Amino acid sequence: MKTIFNKHQDDAATKNRNAQRKLRIIQAISQQGEAITIPEICRKLDVSIPTGIKLVNELQEEGLLKVVGKKENQNGRKPLLYALNNPNFFAIAVEVSIKRISVALIDPGLNVLKYRQKTDFKLENTQECLNEVMDFISQCLEGCEVKEDTVLGMGLGITGRVNTESGKSITYFNFMDRPLATYLSDHFNTPVFIENDTRCLGMAEKNLGHAMNASNAVIINLSRGLGTALIVNDSLVSGSAGYAGEFGHMHFGNQEKICLCGKVGCLGTLVGGHALEEQFMQQLAESQPSLLSGDGPEGIRYDQILDAALKGDQLSIRLIQQMGRTLGYALGNIINLLNPELVVLGGKFARLGNIILDPMRSGMAESALINPLKMCRIEASALGDLALLKGVGALVFEHFELLQNRIVENPVYF
Ligand SMILES: [Zn+2]
Repeated sequence: MKTIFNKHQDDAATKNRNAQRKLRIIQAISQQGEAITIPEICRKLDVSIPTGIKLVNELQEEGLLKVVGKKENQNGRKPLLYALNNPNFFAIAVEVSIKRISVALIDPGLNVLKYRQKTDFKLENTQECLNEVMDFISQCLEGCEVKEDTVLGMGLGITGRVNTESGKSITYFNFMDRPLATYLSDHFNTPVFIENDTRCLGMAEKNLGHAMNASNAVIINLSRGLGTALIVNDSLVSGSAGYAGEFGHMHFGNQEKICLCGKVGCLGTLVGGHALEEQFMQQLAESQPSLLSGDGPEGIRYDQILDAALKGDQLSIRLIQQMGRTLGYALGNIINLLNPELVVLGGKFARLGNIILDPMRSGMAESALINPLKMCRIEASALGDLALLKGVGALVFEHFELLQNRIVENPVYF
C-alpha cells in the first residue's frame, strides 16, 4: 500500500525529505488551528519561498490542502490562505480480540467512516492466524475506495500485553524475528503503531469521552475479560514495558479459582464475561429460573446474559449486581492508590448503566477511603461499540500530532 509517508517517520526523513516537510506543514496548520500563508509556512519550516510553493502545490494536488481565502495585509499584498482539506487523510484502525477482527477507516476527528467486522475468528498465537488477520485487513483495504496516498498509517489494538515503544506484541504474534509493528509495516508498506486494546479504549475516552477533561482517571474495559487503562497526570500509563493496568490479575479475596495466567485467585476469575457465563450456567444447572432457561445451560454467551438483564431477567440482574459489587470493592483499592477524579466503565458491560454502576458504587464505598471516594465520579462509557477503534485511530493521529476533536458521525460499511 502506498501511503503519504511511506514507512516510519525516521526512514522517511532520510528517504524522502519532502514527505517529511509536507507532514510538518500539515502539523503546523493542524496545531495552529487556522489557515496559513506560504511565507508563514516557509518561516516555520525554514525553507525558501520556491520550496514552500512547491510543497504547498503538491499538497494541494494530493487533496490535502485547499485555498480558503486571502490574508489582509497592511502593505496591500494579499497572500493566499491555505487550510487542511480535513476528511482527505485517514488512518486504518484494526482491532484484534479473542473472537473477532474489526477494521475501520478513521478521519482526524476520530469519526469511523467505514467499518467491517469478522466474527468467525479465534485468536491464536500462530502464523496462520496472523495471516488470517492480514488477509482480512487486505480485503477491507481493497473495498475501502480511499486514495491510498491519503492514508497516514495503520493502528492495531490487540488484546494481551503490548510494548508500544518497541512495537512488540508480547502475548500474541510474538514468534517473528521482528516486532509485530515492523512486520505489518513491511507487509502493508505503511507506518504501523500497536497498542494494548484496553489502552486504546482509554485513548478514546481521553479524546472523545467522559475523560476528556480528566487528568487522573481509571478506564475499565469490562467485556469477556477485565482490564484497565490508567490516566495519571494526563498521561496514559504503560509501565516500563507495557505491562501496566493488569487489574484482572490483581489477587482478590480467598477464592481459589485458577486464572488463564496460571495463578490462583485473580479478580478476573470472578469479574468479566467469562466468569459471568460460568456463574450463570451453574445457576441454571441448579434450576434457577431465567428468561434464558429455554436455551439450556450450554452455549449461553455473556452478551446474551447482558441483554437478558436489560430485559429484566432477575437471575441475570442478580449475578451482574454481585459482580458489580465485587468489582467496586476491588476498585476501591485503586481509588486509594491513585486518587482518580473519574472511573469510566467501558467495554460490553457499559450498556448496563446503573444495573452495574450502582452495585459498583456500593462496593467502592466499602473499601475506598472517604475523601478520595467523595471526589471520584463513576460513569458508563457513552462511546458505543466502536470506541476501541476510535482509540486505535487516535493512536495513529497522535503519532503524527494530528488529533482533532470533531462531531461523531455514523459509519458506513466497507
Ligand atoms: Zn490471572
